Amino acid sequence: ESKNEGRNKLKLFDPVTLHSRQLQRQIVGDLREGIRSEQLVLYYQPIVELATGQIEGCEALVRWNHPIHGLIMPDQFIPVAEATGLIAELGRWVLCTAMRQLRQWRDNPAKSTPAFSMRINVSAADLQSLEFVDDVRDVLLKEGLSPDSLVLELTESAIIRNNELDRYTLMSLRRLGVGLEIDDFGAGYSSMGYLRKLPVDRVKVDRQFVKDLGDDPCQLEFLAAIQHVIRSCGLEAVWEGIETAQEAELLRSIGCTSGQGYFFGKPLPEADFLARLKATRGHLWPIPEEFM
Ligand code: C2E
Ligand code: MG
Ligand code: MG
Ligand code: MG
Repeated sequence: ESKNEGRNKLKLFDPVTLHSRQLQRQIVGDLREGIRSEQLVLYYQPIVELATGQIEGCEALVRWNHPIHGLIMPDQFIPVAEATGLIAELGRWVLCTAMRQLRQWRDNPAKSTPAFSMRINVSAADLQSLEFVDDVRDVLLKEGLSPDSLVLELTESAIIRNNELDRYTLMSLRRLGVGLEIDDFGAGYSSMGYLRKLPVDRVKVDRQFVKDLGDDPCQLEFLAAIQHVIRSCGLEAVWEGIETAQEAELLRSIGCTSGQGYFFGKPLPEADFLARLKATRGHLWPIPEEFM
């Protein structure tokens, strides 16, 4: 794939697609074991402030380093985890690992990482668990991190089911002070009305909108309108899927403030992520020559 990926020396395996039903069944058993024996690994992808090119946060993205099948991508096992109830354990592992990592980065001034926030992806099932809010509160206390150092990403489908328990969980998280972001905004068919009703403070716009940008001036106006709607609801937007300098520049020109995508950096394991931050001092755009 890209040159970034090629530099990733820790990557031992190619991602595999788990085709056969037999393999899927085997995966269920393996996953339980995999979570417990630390086969999961978090990759980190930067989120960049478009006005300055400086990193402002990162998203933790889980991968599964399977002893036989190699590196498995989340689309291959998150649905399995959700269907089998393993997602609660997986989600707790992600939460704890990501926040421990953030605290370690902050504890180590020699590594001089800026004080950015951590984003993690939360499954719809997590909102149904009464323990989830306690888990979040506990991990913040344990690591001595302020609530605004954590942003939870939730998908539209999870967030607009609009049942009592979900609403209660969202309100509790909001009161706790963690950021709540709608992920993949615009990917579904839902109405936009919920933007003003839900207790969220951010939106991550689905990458399909940036993908279609190209040279079409209408599409740029369309994106500007989306950005305007989000802002008039009092929300902050992150634009995901930015793959080229042109896309970054166009988004900046219409007043978008935050971006994420392969152009700024692919998800990397912690050692590589940190090395890159050190080398660039967190300044990811314009990308220094040696990283092009
Ligand atoms: P997502 O949360 O929307 O994450 C963004 C996905 O887009 C990631 O795929 C990321 O690698 C990819 N991406 C980032 N920049 C670009 C770009 O410029 N171009 C393109 N084409 N893709 C880009 P990934 O890591 O395979 O994750 C897929 C999905 O799996 C995530 O979508 C999220 O829904 C889910 N996921 C990942 N980690 C977790 C987790 O810890 N817990 C839960 N519940 N779900 C997770
Ligand atoms: Mg996400
Ligand atoms: Mg997304
Ligand atoms: Mg997604």
